[in-house]
Amino acid sequence: MDWSKKIEGKIKKGEPLSLHTSIGIGGKADYFIIPASFGDLKRLMGLLKKSGNSYFVVGNGTNLLFSDKRFKGMIIHPEFKGYTVRGRNVVIRSGENLTNFAVLLARRGLAGLEFAAGIPGSMGGAVMTNAGAFGHSLCEVVTSVKGLDETGRDIVFPSTEIKFGYRKTELPCKIIFTEVELKLHKGSPEKILSRMEKFIKKRKATQPYNVKTAGCIFKNPKDSLPAGRLIEKAELKGLKLGGAMVSNVHANFIENRKRATASDVLGLVEWIRDEIFDRYKINLELEIEVVK
Ligand SMILES: Cc1cc2nc3c(=O)[nH]c(=O)nc-3n(C[C@H](O)[C@H](O)[C@H](O)COP(=O)(O)OP(=O)(O)OC[C@H]3O[C@@H](n4cnc5c(N)ncnc54)[C@H](O)[C@@H]3O)c2cc1C
Repeated sequence: MDWSKKIEGKIKKGEPLSLHTSIGIGGKADYFIIPASFGDLKRLMGLLKKSGNSYFVVGNGTNLLFSDKRFKGMIIHPEFKGYTVRGRNVVIRSGENLTNFAVLLARRGLAGLEFAAGIPGSMGGAVMTNAGAFGHSLCEVVTSVKGLDETGRDIVFPSTEIKFGYRKTELPCKIIFTEVELKLHKGSPEKILSRMEKFIKKRKATQPYNVKTAGCIFKNPKDSLPAGRLIEKAELKGLKLGGAMVSNVHANFIENRKRATASDVLGLVEWIRDEIFDRYKINLELEIEVVK
């Protein structure tokens, strides 16, 4: 199909996904589409359903590891921006940057998203992963989500119909988020911003900064030390495979040091899991999403 005749948004053929992931890894996608509007996305979903083409949604690509091979199908990158604030209720479009938005709300005296300062995801990706930090996560403030289902039908789910878990979100059906509604609380902008600054300082002191990563690789196992501490205790910091390396700053991060491939990262992941299982009989579960 000639998508450019059907869709108003930007269409790129053979787009390298390494350009759209924070870890800088990924083969080329057959099609990379940025819908021009909600209507455009609706049309696209209808066409995809009819044609049977497969698709995958990429937000800011900060929790993803694509394979080095070609992605056979379509990548949809919703860049919808904008928001409305009514008292303590905020409706935000899914392409907004979580951290920037948390700062913007803080300046307006709206609290509840401080923990998100420094999480580099989009609003859509953050809801899908129930992003969180410092003991808080997005599900605490989400009241509903809006989007399109696989046929392009408008859909709204109140948070009571969403099953939020540790870095995961289960919905009654597959959906591409277009908007998210949050309920925040009032606070003093100075105090909210100062809490955020503390979180950002802590991040900068304990996590690799300005390095290509996909955030934490593993979820923290239940009833044990956090994954990073286990990996550090096992003396795996600095472990290298190809261009990938276990970060010396925070052991639960893998850095793309020298043009690492997905195979390098996955090889390192298996190496770490084996070591941790041998030593502590703990199965580390991936926090990043691997897309083949
Ligand atoms: C340096 C660094 C620090 C990080 N720190 C944290 C942290 O403290 N806490 C934390 O939770 N995470 C952290 N992360 C991981 C990541 O930022 C979060 O998981 C983030 O919420 C992912 O958002 P994204 O837009 O990048 O989503 P992507 O990585 O693009 O996608 C993640 C998932 O969401 C889906 N998705 C994206 N947009 C939409 C949409 N509009 N509709 C439907 N599905 C969608 C994708 O298909 C995919 O399944 C960190 C990452 C990095 C690189």
